[in-house]
Amino acid sequence: MNPNEIDIHKELKKYFGFSQFKGLQEQVIKSILNQQNTFVIMPTGGGKSLCYQLPALIQEGTAIVVSPLIALMKNQVDAIRSLSSENGVAHVLNSSLTKTEIAQVKKDITSGLTKLLYVAPESLTKEEYVNFLKNVTISFVAIDEAHCISEWGHDFRPEYRNLKHIIKQLGDVPIIGLTATATPKVQEDILKNLDMTDATTFKASFNRPNLYYEVRTKTKNIESDIIRFIKQHKGKSGIIYCLSRKKVEAIAEVLQVNGISAVPYHAGLDAKTRAKHQDMFLMEDVDVVVATIAFGMGIDKPDVRFVIHHDIPKSLESYYQETGRAGRDGGEGHCLAYYSYKDVEKLEKFMSGKPVAEQEIGFALLQEVVAYAETSMSRRKFLLHYFGEEFDDVTGEGADMDDNVRNPKTKIEAKDQVVQL
Ligand code: ADP
Ligand code: MG
Repeated sequence: MNPNEIDIHKELKKYFGFSQFKGLQEQVIKSILNQQNTFVIMPTGGGKSLCYQLPALIQEGTAIVVSPLIALMKNQVDAIRSLSSENGVAHVLNSSLTKTEIAQVKKDITSGLTKLLYVAPESLTKEEYVNFLKNVTISFVAIDEAHCISEWGHDFRPEYRNLKHIIKQLGDVPIIGLTATATPKVQEDILKNLDMTDATTFKASFNRPNLYYEVRTKTKNIESDIIRFIKQHKGKSGIIYCLSRKKVEAIAEVLQVNGISAVPYHAGLDAKTRAKHQDMFLMEDVDVVVATIAFGMGIDKPDVRFVIHHDIPKSLESYYQETGRAGRDGGEGHCLAYYSYKDVEKLEKFMSGKPVAEQEIGFALLQEVVAYAETSMSRRKFLLHYFGEEFDDVTGEGADMDDNVRNPKTKIEAKDQVVQL
């Protein structure tokens, strides 16, 4: 298919009702329509799904979309079906389907009706499916959340390692890898594992100019410090991340006692309570949710005004994701992290029970967090550099939005602060 003959703006409007592409979407889509292996790195919310959905809808054949979470796949399939009059336009292939349902899926694919077929990586390893897919027209294979392939990513899934081997059996089809993980190490792993170092790569900027980054030394007074901070942001929505469930409960209680409306959220609470607390936060019945990292995946509250890390995160990648939940609407977003070297030691001790290879990766990631906390340079520059992005800390967008830039301290002062602990 000659991509130059297709008016992709018209197709965008027709299928999705949008008048404009977001960021690099147009370039990515052209690359896919040109049958090239393509690698897409965009922050969460950047609009990665449309990058493969639109070309799948307008090309001949079926696009296979590999995605790690069944719930996410179901959402996407429902969304695609709502754009079309045919249910068969998108399907999920997984172990929960009945024989009759599988037969229907196969029929829709063979007849050319199905444009998007979502599969979990473990389903794709099934010989029955592979044999079937070998004999149908496949437009391309999209691998969403491609960082799952890398041990350096935050969500390593061994099944992702077999993907290349399976895709090869399907013939010479283009591969599209997509991720929100920006570290060069993970990117390298993805390209190597998918055997597509030739891929055309599109990387969006990870700069969030409206977020203010601050690190405070963690002292005994942390609780009153947090309370003061929240009272200065009265009535605003915020998230406080803690490492342990116990801490989550304790902080939520301290806040409540001090007249702040707050609820706890962690995996130890039953599903009903978790859902209730999440809804209360989304509906603004409470201002603050105190949570472990179990909270946040897929939370799309646009006006979160602050994200506080009571304990340091285990990697800068996690820090970026967690703070990224602030200021989605482009408004104020204050990201405050408390740092003490004791916490680092605690995390290291926690990791020491794990296999050696995992430990080494964990320590290395943690050292980057330490370096970030202790740096006296622009925090934005540091973060973006970690993601392989150059940032001009004088003229760049958001350059003055961190504590180090606003109140420069000498290196000696910075060291002193750490030693005091
Ligand atoms: P990602 O996978 O990169 O996190 P999504 O694919 O989930 O992002 O898209 C995030 C949001 O952006 C969705 O609500 C989607 O509808 C919206 N979106 C995507 N492309 C466009 C566009 N061209 N114009 C307007 N909104 C868009
Ligand atoms: Mg996505």
